[in-house]
Amino acid sequence: MNKHSTDFNQIVLDLPRQVDTEVAGDIEKESVFVSPWIERIKVNEDRSSVNVELRPGANVEEVAGKARRYLDVMAKQLSGFEIKVFIETKRKDTGPYQLGVNEGLIERGWMHDYGKGQVAYSGPVLKLARLINERSGELYAQAFGAKDGHFPAMVDADTLQKCGYFDSHPNAVTFLGNVVEDIDALEEFRVANSCSEGAILPPHEHIHVDGMCLNPAACFPCYPTLTGKTFADGAAYSWLGRVFRYESRNINGLDRLYEFNVRELVFVGSEDYVRSCRAKALPIVEDARQPDRHRLHGADGDDPFFATVSAAKKFWQAAQEVKNEIKIPALSSDGSVKQLACGSINLHGNFFGKRFGFNDGAGEPAQTGCVGLGIERWVLAAFTQHGFDERRWPESVREKLFG
Ligand code: ATP
Ligand code: ZN
Ligand code: MG
Repeated sequence: MNKHSTDFNQIVLDLPRQVDTEVAGDIEKESVFVSPWIERIKVNEDRSSVNVELRPGANVEEVAGKARRYLDVMAKQLSGFEIKVFIETKRKDTGPYQLGVNEGLIERGWMHDYGKGQVAYSGPVLKLARLINERSGELYAQAFGAKDGHFPAMVDADTLQKCGYFDSHPNAVTFLGNVVEDIDALEEFRVANSCSEGAILPPHEHIHVDGMCLNPAACFPCYPTLTGKTFADGAAYSWLGRVFRYESRNINGLDRLYEFNVRELVFVGSEDYVRSCRAKALPIVEDARQPDRHRLHGADGDDPFFATVSAAKKFWQAAQEVKNEIKIPALSSDGSVKQLACGSINLHGNFFGKRFGFNDGAGEPAQTGCVGLGIERWVLAAFTQHGFDERRWPESVREKLFG
């Protein structure tokens, strides 16, 4: 990899090979975690080199070294996967895609953006989010006999470590901190804030981080509850999970939040059971696109959303893990159509069965699989497809959302 040119705040580095567009997208996305001195890495048009934008004052050699290491790994690990389309549905709404959905929802008072990857929502946005969640929950209960559950939003570091999360996504973890149990530290903190303009945080040495984290993947808190159990016939669980991922500077409206909601479905049992559940899940997820299918008034062919299911192996995944993604077309900020990952269907083999000690009927570590639907991304995709004029929405959901 050669460094071509150096000017004040930008360097160009060759990639070890030409990468495909999927890989190029991932290189750009994850680049915010490479160095605090890197503003962003942009892959050039030929996808054989990148532009590294540096922040003023960066030590160019040191930062270029980190960027090179990063690019080597990304280019290597991501090579050679094919994208296979399992199901593709045609969009029925013939109107244009709606640009500026996030801003439009805020303007209408249906959403509030706190600015750090968290949103509040109400009105049609809330109704749509609930509809997607409830509809998929109902479908999962019917198809898999999925049992309802509730899981905490916090998870301890030992569980995350057991789940392999620190190996795969160390960048996305959020640790919680508390003020030390010390009367002086507490008093100092209290007094500092009693008449300050903004919040004065305690000094680092007065905060202890003892391993509580915000849960970064909906299914994790389920596994400790399965320890010691045997799944002779297989079982399915489904719930609405609250998920937190530190996405750094990539946060962006409903598309990339720090805190979001996932309708999760977990299967546990023999390899046959888990594989058959996955096979069954693909068309069911496809079905969930029609939230009001069984209560249609009038025309029932209307497609609320357009979904493409494709399989992609991603950089941070374990090599054997199989991941199918549910992609729905949405728009980038420049107005070009992009495929938004709105859900994933994953097979874990017996990884969690081994780590958490639960078995199948033969006494072997059970296999697991999961399906996660990112509720806020489905909402974003739906408004991108149908816009803000309620007349463009399928009759079957119009009344429910806007009535
Ligand atoms: P991406 O590549 O876009 O970061 P991911 O591969 O990290 O997605 P998964 O780990 O498969 O996503 O998570 C399951 C689903 O949760 C995704 O398909 C998506 O719908 C949703 N999701 C993931 N990250 C976010 C986020 N930061 N904000 C909102 N939804 C998200
Ligand atoms: Zn999962
Ligand atoms: Mg991600």
